[in-house]
Amino acid sequence: MTDDVLDRLADWQAGLRAQFPILTRNPDVAYLDSAATTQKPAAVLDAVTDFLTTGNANVGRGSYPWATATTSRIERARDRVRIALGDTTTGSSVEFVGGTSHGLRAVAQDWLADQLLDGDEIIVPFGDHEANLRPWLDMRDDLARGGIRVRIVAMPVDPASGDYDHRALPSVVTDRTRFVAVTHVHHVFGVDMNVHRVREAVGPDVPICLDAAQSVGHRPVSVADLDVDFVVFSGHKMLALPGIGAVWARNRRGPRFALRGWEGTPNTAGIVSMAAAFDWLDAAGTAEIGAWTSALTLRLTDGLAELPGVQVLGCQDSLTAESTVQRREALVTFRHRAVRSDDLGFVLADEGIMVRADGHCQAGRDSDDHAVRVSVHVYNTPGEIDRVLEVVRRCEGMSS
Ligand code: PLP
Repeated sequence: MTDDVLDRLADWQAGLRAQFPILTRNPDVAYLDSAATTQKPAAVLDAVTDFLTTGNANVGRGSYPWATATTSRIERARDRVRIALGDTTTGSSVEFVGGTSHGLRAVAQDWLADQLLDGDEIIVPFGDHEANLRPWLDMRDDLARGGIRVRIVAMPVDPASGDYDHRALPSVVTDRTRFVAVTHVHHVFGVDMNVHRVREAVGPDVPICLDAAQSVGHRPVSVADLDVDFVVFSGHKMLALPGIGAVWARNRRGPRFALRGWEGTPNTAGIVSMAAAFDWLDAAGTAEIGAWTSALTLRLTDGLAELPGVQVLGCQDSLTAESTVQRREALVTFRHRAVRSDDLGFVLADEGIMVRADGHCQAGRDSDDHAVRVSVHVYNTPGEIDRVLEVVRRCEGMSS
C-alpha cells in the first residue's frame, strides 16, 4: 500500500526534488531534519533574488514605484496565506511574525493578556514544544496575572488507534476555561491532534490556538474545516526563509488580533519567500506531498518494527509488525534500548544522513532521554529511509 503510493508518485517526486539546489549539489547527503528546518526550492530563492534585485523598497512608505510594488507584494502575501489556509471568511487577519515561537508569544501578549481575569484558565497539552508552553506559563508567572491558571492536560497516544487519547480533556474544561493552545502535528510523535475532538470537548465559545509549525506546508490545513481561532506557523519549516512566520486569526471570539510588538519594518524578503513557497506547494500539490511523506514515514516505522531494540516515541511499547500505530505525519522519533541516541546520531551523520538526535525542545529532557528524529519533506526518497534503516540495523547487530 505504502509502496504503491511511492511507486505512483515517484516521477512526480523526482521532478520536485530536482528543484532543490542544495540537494542536487550534495547528492550523497540524506537531509532528514525538515522538522527543524526545510530546504528551499529554486523558485523560492529566485523570488527573493528577484525582489531584492528588481524592486527592493520598504513597505507602506513612499509613493515611488518600487515602494508601492513592495506594499502590493506584502498585501498579496497576506492573501496568499489566507488562500493557503482555505480561509473563505471575512474579517480574518494575517500578521507576519518572526516564526511560530514569536507568533505564539504575540497571541499571548498582544491578545490573550487583555482577555483574562483572575481565576481564568488556559488549557495546554502535556509534552508540547516549549514554544507552545512558555508563553502561557509566563502569563501565569507574571505577578500581575497571579490568578490565572494553566491546566496542562495529558493526552497520550492511544496504542490501539495511534491517535491522541483525548479522554482527559473534558475533565479539565471548566466554566473558567478561556483559551486552549494545541499543537496540530506533534514535533516528536508526528501525531495529528484531531482538532475536531478538541472543539467538541471545549465547546463552541472557547478560542483555540493551533501551533501549526509541523503541518502548514506539509499537508493541507484548512481553517474552513478546523474551527480554530488562531493558526501560527513558521516560514522556514515550509520551504521559505528563516525569520518569518504568520499568525492567522479568525477574530470571531473576542476582539481583533493585532500585533503590537513589531511595528517597524517587517522582514519583506522573508514575506516574499513565504508567498513563493505557498505558490510552489500549491503547484506541487499539498495533498500529494502529505501522501508522499506519510508513505515515507510508514516505510520507516515498518522497518523499525522489525528491530526489537527500537522504541518509537508515542507508542507505549516497541512496534511490532502487526502494530496499528505506525502512521505518522512526516516525522518519526525513536530510540534504541542498547545504543545511545546521541551515538546513533553521530553514526548516521558519518554516513551523510542528517537527523536530529537530542531532547527535541521538550522541557526537562536529559541526555538519557534523548531520541533520534527522522523528519521528511517532499524531496526525501525511499532510498534515504532505507539508508537510515540499514544503519540502525547495523548498530543493533553490533550491540547484541
Ligand atoms: N512548535 C512546534 C511544533 C515546532 O516543531 C517548533 C520548532 O521545531 C516550534 C513550535 C518553534 O518554531 P520556530 O523555531 O520556527 O519558532
